[in-house]
Amino acid sequence: MKSPPLNSMTRKELEQRLAEYLQEEVKTSAHCRMCGAEFTKNRRWQEFCTTKCQTTWHAKAKDVLIELLQAKIGRMEREIDELRAELAKSAGGGG
Ligand SMILES: [Zn+2]
Repeated sequence: MKSPPLNSMTRKELEQRLAEYLQEEVKTSAHCRMCGAEFTKNRRWQEFCTTKCQTTWHAKAKDVLIELLQAKIGRMEREIDELRAELAKSAGGGG
């Protein structure tokens, strides 16, 4: 019987491994998600060349999210109107 390595680890060992993974320095080059500039990653998940780019990106992402939600609400309102119209038609026409 062979158990997967992660299953055989204690919670403490898993936490240790995760901490090591997150702390691990990875010197790979990447392109900033915001400005496109090439930079050297210090951490695996790093996506922006500077904190400023990160902040700008998140501010923009928020605006985009709001726009998407507003568009979605608009579509839902139209659907509700259509359903109301259908309901009124079927109620008035008697099926
Ligand atoms: Zn940048």
